[in-house]
Amino acid sequence: MSREINTVGVVGLGTMGAGIVEVFARSGIDVVAVEVTDEAVERGQATLVGSIDRAVAKGKLTPAARDEIFARVGFAVGFAALHDVDLVIEAVPEQLPLKQRIFAELDRVCKPGAILATNTSSLSVTEISVATTRPNQVIGVHFFNPAPVMKLVEIVRTVVTAPEVVADVEALCARLGKTDVTINDRAGFIANALLFGYLNQAVSMLEARYATREDIDAAMRLGCGLPMGPLALMDLIGIDTAYEILDTMYRRGGRDRRHAPVPLIKQMVTAGLLGRKTGRGFYTYEGPGSPKVVADELTAAPEPAGSTQITTIGVVGSGVMARGIVEVAARAGFDVVSVTRGEAKTAAVTAAVQGSLAKAVVKGKLTEDDQAAALARITWSHRLEDLDDVDLVIESVVEELSVKKAVFAALDEICKPGVVLATTTSSLPVIEIAMATQRPADVVGLHFFNPAPVMALVEIVRTIRTAPETTAAADALVAALGKTGVHCADRSGFIVNALLFPYLNDAVRMLEASYASADDIDYAMKLGCGYPMGPFELLDTVGLDVALAIQRELYLELREPGFAPAPLLEHLVTAGYVGRKAGRGFRDHTNL
Ligand code: NAD
Repeated sequence: MSREINTVGVVGLGTMGAGIVEVFARSGIDVVAVEVTDEAVERGQATLVGSIDRAVAKGKLTPAARDEIFARVGFAVGFAALHDVDLVIEAVPEQLPLKQRIFAELDRVCKPGAILATNTSSLSVTEISVATTRPNQVIGVHFFNPAPVMKLVEIVRTVVTAPEVVADVEALCARLGKTDVTINDRAGFIANALLFGYLNQAVSMLEARYATREDIDAAMRLGCGLPMGPLALMDLIGIDTAYEILDTMYRRGGRDRRHAPVPLIKQMVTAGLLGRKTGRGFYTYEGPGSPKVVADELTAAPEPAGSTQITTIGVVGSGVMARGIVEVAARAGFDVVSVTRGEAKTAAVTAAVQGSLAKAVVKGKLTEDDQAAALARITWSHRLEDLDDVDLVIESVVEELSVKKAVFAALDEICKPGVVLATTTSSLPVIEIAMATQRPADVVGLHFFNPAPVMALVEIVRTIRTAPETTAAADALVAALGKTGVHCADRSGFIVNALLFPYLNDAVRMLEASYASADDIDYAMKLGCGYPMGPFELLDTVGLDVALAIQRELYLELREPGFAPAPLLEHLVTAGYVGRKAGRGFRDHTNL
């Protein structure tokens, strides 16, 4: 028979513990909340009060409900108060000796039959459990940050956790309104195993001055729809906690270099820049614990509103991206010369742009007059020579280096001096394309995202030869198109793809290792980290073949062993299981 859980203990009231107390109390469960000192208790109490009061102020809780919640929570220093709880969740810093010491103590204090749970993110639950005389009653219950908001709980069973303990905790999670995935004891479980390599890589981009903190974060928010950029997320997690998690994952997870904490992280820990909780991490906050970012010495001065001399834009190509850019530019008021390789291609681009504009009118996003004006601004052509008088060219032809180089060599002959030549390549080195011309200083990458009329992000890629005036012209253009530009250097995958695809590849490896199902992995990333799509949904959408090609490029450029494409990805592509477009991928899309 399943045991009743009426009272729980929470040990450690930091970033996670305070949120976990709130989750239980809001679900009508009595809580004994324990810390090491009176000051720490007060801090934890203040976090709880602040969060509940905010909910009342927003009208999400009544004042009566608030009082009931507070009445359910007792605070204490020391473990004696935990003698009668039915379950304890430990949420102290991510250090094995500390957690083992605490579990030995809990084992002495808690009544027989009480479940002892750890909120560890990366340590071995098994190693923690053997510090007690009841390892079969020890389990991992991994909440996500912020605990009251994120729906996922990873339940981690060791090889000796009793099945009824797993069942009781699963039932408890349901009572809390959480979705659980139950998995075995492996470093990082599902979500952190996929998340932390990405976070560490983002820090290494910052450390190498590849892009600014704001640009890295904006790229991942706007390019992937993530609720937060990686550096802002590190600040939320806590830089010290992130360091410990990475360090443990490196040691437990096969010494993957991608988990070796980037030196900057250790330096920040030493300097006390622990993120939101201390008021400063990658960003500076209004005060300790505040989510509000304030300007600091690293905040770039606002750019003077860019004035562009550009009035006419040439767009070369006829694919999805070229069509989107023609539409975006015409809607933004530029004259556009669309050049394709022939009448049939021009007809296809024309139809696509007309169709998309008509849809915008139906949706009420565009007036009929604006639609007519946008169409009137576009000149259709299939001769590159018609670009002899444009102010800027955006090339968006097939993703093949030889083809792009040929187009750029031709543009170099045709275009006026000083015209900015941009490529939308997503995986080729911009410098190789630039060197096909006699004017590499005027060449820049403008990496739009699909569908271009919808996606707000453009990565502006400068090569080692790009002139500052060229980048400035690109900035002004991107702003005039109503998009957000982020700058990065000319490296494979730029910001977004370089951070996104290794994570997708890791998810495939996790599936391949039979650690969790595709559904559970998708759930974990959506409900634990707020991703708009799980990795397998996303792979099926972008195409497994596209993902494989990008991953291969990243691997070839950086020679990072962890970037080697997952064999399962290669096999599926070989078998024609390339995702939705083929009607089959990680899931059989037989309905397409
Ligand atoms: P934190 O540093 O914010 O808080 C830890 C708290 O534990 C502090 O308030 C500290 O005073 C208290 N503490 C230390 N020793 C104690 C003791 N002997 N008895 C009672 N309390 C003690 O850490 P955190 O970020 O909340 O992480 C706690 C645990 O939760 C870690 O295992 C971490 O891996 C895990 N976790 C963290 C996150 C996150 O985003 N921060 C997410 C999920 C899980």
